[in-house]
Amino acid sequence: MQPLPTAQTRRFILLGAPGVGKGTQASLLSSSYGACHLSTGDLFRAMQKRDGSALSGALKEAVTQMRAGALVSDEVVLQLVVDRAECLVCRGGFLLDGFPRTVSQAAALDVLLAQRGISLDAVVSYNLDETELIARVSGRRTCPVCHAIFHATIHPPREADVCDSCGSRLMQRADDAPETVHRRHQAYLENTACLRDYYAAQNLLVDIDARGSPEDVFTRTVIALNERQAESAG
Ligand code: AMP
Repeated sequence: MQPLPTAQTRRFILLGAPGVGKGTQASLLSSSYGACHLSTGDLFRAMQKRDGSALSGALKEAVTQMRAGALVSDEVVLQLVVDRAECLVCRGGFLLDGFPRTVSQAAALDVLLAQRGISLDAVVSYNLDETELIARVSGRRTCPVCHAIFHATIHPPREADVCDSCGSRLMQRADDAPETVHRRHQAYLENTACLRDYYAAQNLLVDIDARGSPEDVFTRTVIALNERQAESAG
């Protein structure tokens, strides 16, 4: 996929239920726009691979919550983002994937951005019905080494269970196990879905139909973002 021209700094949040394909879209968009991809879920997954004794009590608790499919506390998530605040001022902009996930995280992000004199360009909400979401999550396989994401039917690797990019054996994320998926979806409905209203009120929401291949969804996203940019310029 050819990079798009990067005449501009782009600052986006990607919203959507677990399994909708935010991580895949974030990778595609970040390579095209040259924007920093910050995934709080990837940070927690990296943490769970570390030796438990190297983690503080709060981070151990965060990993336990993640494994159970529950949300990590706002306090821990915000500290993680503050520790990586250089991403917010990255020259190519940023793509926030999995953050914010609660209204209080969104309000804290507003403050972090205001303190740096920067603002969001758009909040992209990927929409898909629940049956399809569950099918996507159950077929998802990820590379533990380079974090590439595949799907048994929608985006299969060239060789079964082997990463196209680095050759490592693909794995199912622990929190993609069927019993955890339902809990993650509930957490999304209870805490995160309301962020659509939060950002619609700021005129930032861009809705994208997440059906189809990653490339289709990516093309739809770029068209919608370009249209939005053209409208605000005109
Ligand atoms: P994700 O890969 O974005 O689905 O995140 C995986 C898991 O990490 C979630 O189910 C939560 O347990 C935790 N997590 C990631 N981001 C956040 C966040 N912003 N707030 C609370 N928990 C989070």
